[in-house]
Amino acid sequence: MTARPLPPNATIGLVGGGQLGRMSAMAAARLGYRCHILTREVDSPAAQVSHAVTISDYRDPVSLRAFAAAVDVISFEFENISAEGLDLLASLRPVRPAPPVLRISQDRIAEKTFLNQAGVATAPWAAVGSRQELEAAVQRLGLPAVLKTTRLGYDGKGQAMLRAPEDLDAAWDRLEPKPLVLEGFVDFASEISVVAARGLDGAVASFDTVENRHRNHILDLTLAPARIAPAVDEAAQAIACRVAEALDLVGLLAVEMFLDSGGNVLVNEIAPRPHNSGHWTIDACPASQFELHIRSIAGLPLPAARRHSDAVMKNLIGPEGMALWPAALAEPSLIPHLYGKAEALPGRKMGHVTRLFPRGSLPGDFGIEAALGPLR
Ligand code: AMP
Repeated sequence: MTARPLPPNATIGLVGGGQLGRMSAMAAARLGYRCHILTREVDSPAAQVSHAVTISDYRDPVSLRAFAAAVDVISFEFENISAEGLDLLASLRPVRPAPPVLRISQDRIAEKTFLNQAGVATAPWAAVGSRQELEAAVQRLGLPAVLKTTRLGYDGKGQAMLRAPEDLDAAWDRLEPKPLVLEGFVDFASEISVVAARGLDGAVASFDTVENRHRNHILDLTLAPARIAPAVDEAAQAIACRVAEALDLVGLLAVEMFLDSGGNVLVNEIAPRPHNSGHWTIDACPASQFELHIRSIAGLPLPAARRHSDAVMKNLIGPEGMALWPAALAEPSLIPHLYGKAEALPGRKMGHVTRLFPRGSLPGDFGIEAALGPLR
């Protein structure tokens, strides 16, 4: 791995063609780089704004080799890619974050094991490989509890809430692939997250801790900064830093956390890529999460992840989200972002809007409702 920064006009290979790749490619272009996207999708959001695209399965060795030959460094915006495919890419070009980081984030058992070994608290959990093990895990952790697939879950897919012993059979039968993970239910006061970048030189820059509100298991609003006690903020920031260091990360990482009613910060999951809860940084920070993603993988110095404004980010999801687009464009205080997706399928993230507030003046809940005006 070369420690020299990537020179201007070099080509960054990005695996994954979604909106995270699109916004990373836009940040890369601003820094004078080209992006080459590897995706299975024709007309992907990322390819629309990039220099080149390879449309292929993520496991096809011929396409992977050709992709690697066409780029100078490789990153990813999407976790459900084959780790073996990423290994092949890493044998040909620097891959940042490195494949072991992807492997940890792809598997909830590996992720929780890694976090607990790094001294980071999670909800109590148990790996569940059989119906008997589920019984034993419920005995140990109690109900309510959340049963989740180990792999391929996102936006609440691949999980079931267990409230009573009668819920076990149906949840066990429905959730695939096995094995599963049982987590103790966290009666959280809020959900918070931190996005941090770590450079080739080991320097870490982290954005302010934010508060996330979900609707139907999908992120609806991010409030920046989170309205939390300074000690909680410090704990969340320290956790993000510790996780980045323990992973020996080069790249960007999001850490999603629960703040429980006792004031404890528990990690829910980590994502070694730009994150929906960091979209506010495009408009509220001199350097966004996408710029820090590109800078970290390109070996450039990391600027401080400073915010000049407070912000609320609202996702535009599915047909209902697209129905709000004209209103988002008509309201001058909203900053609109659309991802170029052809079809507004239910639950699909189509775009987002950001509303900025002078630093230190993020309103309370009623003020936020009012500030989003026609979008609430
Ligand atoms: P995940 O797919 O793990 O990100 O979970 C999606 C959402 O489900 C989280 O953002 C929480 O709102 C909720 N959730 C997941 N795990 C738990 C848990 N152990 N206790 C309470 N709520 C949870």
